[in-house]
Amino acid sequence: MGVKVLVRIRTTTNFAPDMIECSLDDNTIKIHTKRDQRKEAVNNQHSDWMFKVDGILHDVPQEVMYAAVAKKAVASTINGFSSTIMCYGQTGAGKTHTMTGATEKYEYRGIIPRAIQQIFKEVEEQADLALTVYVSYLEIYNETLYDLLSTMSDSSTPDTQMIIVEDNHGVRIKGLSIHMVSTEEDALNYLFEGETNRIIASHTMNKSSSRSHCIFTIYVETRWRQTAEVKYLTSKLNLVDLAGSERLGKTGSEGQVMREAMYINKSLSFLEQTIIALGDSKRGHIPFRQSKLTHALKDSIGGTCNTILVANIYGEASQIDETLSTLRFASRMKCIPAEPVANIYTDPMKLIHKLQNDIQVLQDELAMYNILGNRRQVSYETLTANQIRDIKAQICRYLEGTVDEINTGLLNSEESQVGELMGEGFGIGLAPTSAKAKKLKVKKSKDIAGTTKKDRPPVSGKDAEMLQQPKDSAQDVSPKPTGSRVIMASIIDSVRSESIGKMEEARPTTPPGRSEIFDMFKAEKGSEINRILIENKRILIEKKANMKDLTDRINNVKEEIDITNRSLNIKKRERHVQGEYKNEHDEPVVDEDEFNLIIQLKDLKRQYRCDFNALRDLRVEVQYCQRLVDQCRLRLLTEFEIWYNESFLTADDTQQVPQGDSIRRGLVPFSRMTALEEDDKEKFQRLQQEILMECPESVSFYRARMKLQQRQNYTRAMNQPQPITIHKKPGMITPSIKNKPPTSLQCS
Ligand code: ADP
Ligand code: MG
Repeated sequence: MGVKVLVRIRTTTNFAPDMIECSLDDNTIKIHTKRDQRKEAVNNQHSDWMFKVDGILHDVPQEVMYAAVAKKAVASTINGFSSTIMCYGQTGAGKTHTMTGATEKYEYRGIIPRAIQQIFKEVEEQADLALTVYVSYLEIYNETLYDLLSTMSDSSTPDTQMIIVEDNHGVRIKGLSIHMVSTEEDALNYLFEGETNRIIASHTMNKSSSRSHCIFTIYVETRWRQTAEVKYLTSKLNLVDLAGSERLGKTGSEGQVMREAMYINKSLSFLEQTIIALGDSKRGHIPFRQSKLTHALKDSIGGTCNTILVANIYGEASQIDETLSTLRFASRMKCIPAEPVANIYTDPMKLIHKLQNDIQVLQDELAMYNILGNRRQVSYETLTANQIRDIKAQICRYLEGTVDEINTGLLNSEESQVGELMGEGFGIGLAPTSAKAKKLKVKKSKDIAGTTKKDRPPVSGKDAEMLQQPKDSAQDVSPKPTGSRVIMASIIDSVRSESIGKMEEARPTTPPGRSEIFDMFKAEKGSEINRILIENKRILIEKKANMKDLTDRINNVKEEIDITNRSLNIKKRERHVQGEYKNEHDEPVVDEDEFNLIIQLKDLKRQYRCDFNALRDLRVEVQYCQRLVDQCRLRLLTEFEIWYNESFLTADDTQQVPQGDSIRRGLVPFSRMTALEEDDKEKFQRLQQEILMECPESVSFYRARMKLQQRQNYTRAMNQPQPITIHKKPGMITPSIKNKPPTSLQCS
């Protein structure tokens, strides 16, 4: 595809059909000159020429001309395609008539007013698009740029300061006023203003309007009304009325006219040189900068710009030389390759906004997956300088051996442990991490032959797991006097008080292996707490299974929501394409299918919310149960440890236990562990029954309050353990109620 060339022959009574032969079928123009009649004719000179063009407009009204020349190009401007339509020809051949038209009759209007009308029609019709239209009007006269709309602009920049600059967006004229126009009338006002200024200037500056080049430019910016679209299109429609191409020089003009002729000839011959260069694929350099005209049109002739030339010819015999010259220019112009490309840009602000939205959506989705996959409180923020410094310091300490573990603080290990479906939060191996445990072992390894850490009989399976201290739990027996330690002490003491007497007598000289003895302990002394542990584990597993089912269901509902959303979007698009009906409230009318989809989506979302809330509640319960299991396990281990120490080790072995620590000799303050008050749930149930009698509507309110209280209790229990609050939970058996058999084992 190249530059499109159309020949327009102006209407005249003296048309020379014998010299100008038009064939409309194959768009050829043949020119015959009667050289033989001229005495000075050179023998071998051609007297017949044939030009192939893209269209011949002979005696056609403006409307037909417009349809053939401009309509398609103008339509493509809103799709981001730039176009240049140029009229070339001798003075009087009808360039201005073609480009601007005559003002006396509406149907005589030319390309510019018709293009304006077409663009604003598109503005009205394209409901999805937001089109912004600007206009400018430039005149180039004797290599000087004039802003024909300077009278309409606020800035008082003198014309002479205008310069042609090139940037990423192409060529633009710095200092040329560009005016936003919102209606056809508005744009036409600018055109007429420019025309008037052109005429005034021709009088005041004594310049001939036929000797200047005029470029009326319509700029269109196309954006999508839909906010998510970050792309936008821009295009320029250059409508160029060139100066008369006749060779004025040979008429022997003087002074001003001579200078003008020189400039015009120069700029048109530069245009011609540029065009020849553009048409030659081997030419690297194109001399655009030789003249203001070619420089201003640098990105508007050929290339990615849709280019159309109207060769205006005066079809009289006396003008045949100029006609020939115009047609030669036109045929050169046809050689310029042009492959129009849309100017697509990305709005950076909209892109930032869109990316921010995308990130938010993805983060929300990720957060949901983390919740559904039981990974909560995972941070995706980049590390701060302080965090990095902290982690580095921890790594150094770890490598020095002063710390056993690196805590990045980015993942809440408690949370992630609790959520693992079958994970018990216990490590494998025999390395207790608490300071106290280390102390005990150091002592043992010194004093008791054959019972050092290394020599201990290997422990495997469940017992190995049991004999090990959970990391979290280890903190509970560290020397810090915490609330949980008080409970622990009381339970341990009570167990010890029962068994101590009997064990005293049966103490063997060499302590037996812990693992062998542990099973025995579980079956006898620790049977009750072991039973409670097993039962709590069963409940925990059951709740985790429920959680998994619920999670699966939520995922399925989410999938269904996505599918429904997609179907709805397809429906919506179909509705847009087919054109939509609106009711009296200006709301779009949807068909039954779409209506059903909307209802379905609503139901799914309701279900999703409901399940999601249930899952959240269930998670809290699972976490709570997990804590109870941990506590039970710890108690079993601690009791075993004490019983073992009491039964098999000498006083020397245990005397190093710090004073005031939970594991100590002596009797238990029994009241502390047996005092069991009415718990929150019981209290609530009692209150509920009382209130229900008076005001049945208050149930939801109180139910919500109870939930809140439960959550608070849970947090309190975890942070500052208090015997009463953590001991009981509906549906769970707590190890502390050993002298009161569990009443209910069902999950709530
Ligand atoms: P140019 O701009 O090329 O010097 P104009 O457009 O000013 O020529 O035309 C010169 C005169 O010829 C004007 O009066 C114009 O109305 C008339 N004219 C030009 N082309 C046509 C046409 N196709 N039909 C009727 N009148 C025309
Ligand atoms: Mg003119």
